[in-house]
Amino acid sequence: MQFIKKEQIKAFIKIILSITLLFSCKYPWKKVLAETPWQPTNLTKEHISSIETTPYGIFAGEFSTKYWELPFNGIYFSSDKGMNWVKSGLKYRGVTDIAHTKDIVFATTYYSTTQYPAGLYKSTNWGKDWSHVGPDTPASKVEVLGDTVLLGTYNQGLWISNDLGKSWKRILEGEERMQYIDKIFMDEAIIFVRGHNEYRNFLSSKDNGITWEREEWLEILDAFDFWVYDNLLYIATDYLNIVVSKDFKTIYRLVGNFDSNPVHSLYRIGVNFYAGVLNEASNVLDIYKSTDQGINWESTNLTEAVNTDSLEDIQSITGVPSYIFGLFPGKGVYRKEISFKRDKEPFLGNLWKNQKPNDILNKITSFFDHEYPLLGYGFYSEPSEYTSSTVNFLGQKGKEPEIYYSSHNGYDFALPYGTELTAPYDGIAKGVYCPACGNTILIKHPNGYMTVYMHLQKENLIAQMWEDNIPVNEGDVIGKVGMTGNTTGPHLHFEVRKPDYTIPGWGTGHPSGLTDPFGWQNDFKYDPWAFFKWEDGLGRHTGKASKYLWKEETNLSGIKKAFNGNPLLMDLDNINIQIPSTIYPLPLAFQIAYLTPPTPPESTQKYVEGTALSIV
Ligand SMILES: [Zn+2]
Repeated sequence: MQFIKKEQIKAFIKIILSITLLFSCKYPWKKVLAETPWQPTNLTKEHISSIETTPYGIFAGEFSTKYWELPFNGIYFSSDKGMNWVKSGLKYRGVTDIAHTKDIVFATTYYSTTQYPAGLYKSTNWGKDWSHVGPDTPASKVEVLGDTVLLGTYNQGLWISNDLGKSWKRILEGEERMQYIDKIFMDEAIIFVRGHNEYRNFLSSKDNGITWEREEWLEILDAFDFWVYDNLLYIATDYLNIVVSKDFKTIYRLVGNFDSNPVHSLYRIGVNFYAGVLNEASNVLDIYKSTDQGINWESTNLTEAVNTDSLEDIQSITGVPSYIFGLFPGKGVYRKEISFKRDKEPFLGNLWKNQKPNDILNKITSFFDHEYPLLGYGFYSEPSEYTSSTVNFLGQKGKEPEIYYSSHNGYDFALPYGTELTAPYDGIAKGVYCPACGNTILIKHPNGYMTVYMHLQKENLIAQMWEDNIPVNEGDVIGKVGMTGNTTGPHLHFEVRKPDYTIPGWGTGHPSGLTDPFGWQNDFKYDPWAFFKWEDGLGRHTGKASKYLWKEETNLSGIKKAFNGNPLLMDLDNINIQIPSTIYPLPLAFQIAYLTPPTPPESTQKYVEGTALSIV
């Protein structure tokens, strides 16, 4: 019965579709993008089952049933955007899926041994160690959102944890159709779970997995994948291209013109939509891109690079440059460099590339005191004749209670409560709390600068209080504007610091380490701090001239040339390098790079804490 019904609907829909698309040109989706081509990463193994991009790097799982070939069947990890991969645990387990939230990575496994149960594994140190959580049963899928983890299994249905994997409960136990789970989609608005027996069956939950409803329309549509964007539900379907629903219940619009070829996968990054479409005539799959919510599509020219008929997953990494990754069964992981526009610009997302300074300036409620940014510096305070005065970066002097806040070592921005704040650049985050600053995030950036964000809400912090070494990518949400600490209203206190560790006692609180990002970015040449001299318990000091933030070249002025048999000394910020005279002849070339610690593979190698070296 259901089969006939489905065919009738298919035929009817095809008529509607051809009318709808009559006014659009014949093959708008066959246009090819002029972008960098797809290229294989160095993980082109046949049986890669899953990939997951995290701020720390990319995880990939292997699941091969060809046990006579002794497959690794564990997790691979890449910290360089897919070019090199190391083995990172769960050997012989048969990894079927990977998911992550913040600094927790989850992986599902198939094989059970006396030593290792099957099911779900959890790592809180980016794949160094894994511990089993949940039921001992072959697992197929895992998704995580907030503290909720959904675990799909091969014959024990669906399991849920609301405390990030500590306690588990089986749900939908009586549902015959939901014993083997082959798809989980989680969004704040809705969860979809697909069970696979004779047919594909869909259930949804709008209350975080407490109650479930059958979704017959998704079964008729033969839904493959979902995306929620702007309160609309986008559904990749077998023959209806992409279907949009406003109420998550009925079809509101059709988008995409793929000649009724099945859309297997949907992915979004910023305003870019990506769809994996199988051309049924040639049996070759391509990935298409749309920047207008699915109206127009352009080929990313995948077919030439990969020549595949199936796509398991699309993932991405943002940064400089950004990439999307495709996982193709039987072929492995490929990547493509992309550019994209964020759909909404959260505050600070593009601070340093800011085209309209006024957009930023209008939000400032207190300037950085360019003359005496000495707050928190124990050895010196503002001279009494200048008390309560501030020099802003325009060189203008203002007095309280204007928007000047004397001895202010940062900028205050008036922003709506809950405004998302994003990392302006990659770095390592730390969460700290003090009664005056409230919930605070510090990000150490690779160029030696540190950015500081105070008075944040307790929720949505990228690093919890006193958590350290949380990697962040440019554009990651690091927290939300709140009212913790000394505040009279919701605002962000934002600081940029450049600690000077070469002078004892001159840590992050030292005045020369407190820097003004705006003063440097503009043509305002006058920088009073550069000419300021003072004397205190630590001796005589002069303020440092500001440089162009972020574009500051590595300081090579400390190099002492090494002639006459003397060793070469290099003094780079807080790093001292000595090169013995015996390693010449000149010339020498140096490449200075900031390394992320490697993940030790399952071998005798050991990572030595605090270094970037692996000792074999
Ligand atoms: Zn402030």
